[in-house]
Amino acid sequence: MLTNIRNFCIISHIDAGKSTLADRFLEVTKTIAPEKMRPQYLDGMPLERERGITIKLQPVRMEYNLNLKPYVLNLIDTPGHVDFSYEVSRSLAAIEGVILLVDASRGVQAQTLANLHLARQQNLVIIPVINKIDLGGIDLEARRDELAELLKIPSQEIICASAKKGIGIEAILKRVVEKVPPPKGSEDSPLRALIFDSFFDEYRGVVCYVRVRDGSLIQGERLKFLASQVSSEAKEIGIFIPQLKKREKLSSGEIGYIVTGLKDIKKCRVGDTITKLKIKNQKLKIEALPGYREPQLMVFAGFYLKDASRISQLQVSLEKLKLNDASLNFKPETQAWLGPGYRMGFLGPLHMDITKDRLKREYGLDLIVTPPSVAYRVRLKGGEAKMVHSPLSWPEESQMSQVEEPWLKVNIITPSSYIGPIMNLAKNYKGVYIEARYVSHKTILHYQMPLALLLTDFYDKLKSVSSGYASYNYQFLDWRKGELVRLNILVAGEVIEHLASIVYKERAQSLGRRIVEALKEILPRQLFEVKIQAALGARILASAKIPSLRKDVTAKLYGGDVTRKKKLLAKQKKGKKKLARLSKVDIPPEAYRALSKF
Ligand code: GDP
Ligand code: MG
Repeated sequence: MLTNIRNFCIISHIDAGKSTLADRFLEVTKTIAPEKMRPQYLDGMPLERERGITIKLQPVRMEYNLNLKPYVLNLIDTPGHVDFSYEVSRSLAAIEGVILLVDASRGVQAQTLANLHLARQQNLVIIPVINKIDLGGIDLEARRDELAELLKIPSQEIICASAKKGIGIEAILKRVVEKVPPPKGSEDSPLRALIFDSFFDEYRGVVCYVRVRDGSLIQGERLKFLASQVSSEAKEIGIFIPQLKKREKLSSGEIGYIVTGLKDIKKCRVGDTITKLKIKNQKLKIEALPGYREPQLMVFAGFYLKDASRISQLQVSLEKLKLNDASLNFKPETQAWLGPGYRMGFLGPLHMDITKDRLKREYGLDLIVTPPSVAYRVRLKGGEAKMVHSPLSWPEESQMSQVEEPWLKVNIITPSSYIGPIMNLAKNYKGVYIEARYVSHKTILHYQMPLALLLTDFYDKLKSVSSGYASYNYQFLDWRKGELVRLNILVAGEVIEHLASIVYKERAQSLGRRIVEALKEILPRQLFEVKIQAALGARILASAKIPSLRKDVTAKLYGGDVTRKKKLLAKQKKGKKKLARLSKVDIPPEAYRALSKF
């Protein structure tokens, strides 16, 4: 019964009201009983509820009658933040249409454009909706014109709604049924199901979220994963309501889950195609469905444990987390003071922050995170190129012939009245202006910019010069030459590896001074004076002293009591050793946070 299925997503900029609109759908379709309803129902993770943002895609199956005909509506709620766009792109591969939601008080924003672009690439049907029309002081006509101009459609086609007040909800569902095509696919062909997400269940092993393209699957059948060539059994299959609900069968066009029983986590990969181990026509070669492009990692940081003895636990946890976060990337790395850990790659700073939180909450791991950096492509004198993801593996100055850094294509969308201040701002971030496009009262500025600078505080500055109205989106562009050096931080004469960072040469001096001054305030005082220095190789750029809690230990000694003096100095030395330990565990989190800002 493919003709009665509609698979769709809600996409938008963050905070346009996707999860709230999904709430109304859950109510109208009676998927959730009124007494169980709560705001942003599909944001099931505690972290999502606390932060008020969607991090994970979440499918839900709803039943809806229109003109006395029953329909199955499979909705996937997606995150809006740029750091989680991989969740969006994977969701889009499992569906046929999208509701493009725009906030009536903000109009078209950067992620509206970026997600629209993704949807168009997949040839999805687009249903434009303006949300939050209940808000006062909005110019609805202008918002409609803007969106109509962007989509090149008559403005009457745009549905106006309020997810909060329940206005326009049935009109949207009706449009979904009418406009989103039923899934294509053949029930008689061999099974092909695309894995678009997964998680690890301690008792049942890997659970895959799938979109069945062709064929069907019955509980208990033997499965084969095309890419990894692993086989397993469909121990249980079912649908999302949004909790997992068991069913006997999943058929072509449906979205559901498969409990695979696989305990070896590495054998299941999001993007792989599941088929059956035995198919009738053995000669038939089953083509894998198009998988997903590997996401472009933007930010790298070291993850270390406060309790280094739990390293194997960190490894297992990361592997499990990767099942639920396909963009996660990690490689072992060891630092003198922090011990064994992982160098991790992320899609952005929020992704890094969320990962740290998830490891703590879901796996009970307390982590020390080193200051984030981007990746660099270093050309060595011998001619070979090397990717450097950590200040630790930065080659000696004398071995390098050239360093290249990642540049981005940046789109900034803003009400046209803020163009001046934004252009000034972009200049400070080495932005290279390319072009401007105009959509109604908005301007889309296209820039090229180095990633490392954009990551500093561009977002905050952009918000502040545009009274919160401008938003931006970026993607990797290319590698370009940069004058970069490794800035070392020394405490009590010793290089603290995990405080090192890669910085622009011309900024090293002022950065060094700021870091040293910040650390002076942050690091706890000791019984003796501690020197903090910033250095490029042997050259000291800045230096500060944290005064001792007490005066010089030997100051009170008059005359030549050498043994006593020695004893005191030995005690002080022990104190210095303690400082080393202190640097490992007790450099307060503010220190890392302060460093990350530079
Ligand atoms: P998402 O990030 O797109 O999923 O957005 P949420 O559904 O989490 O909503 C973001 C914020 O907008 C929340 O504070 C909602 O209460 C609010 N919101 C959502 N829809 C409406 C609406 O129709 N009117 C008003 N006034 N606020 C809304
Ligand atoms: Mg949401």
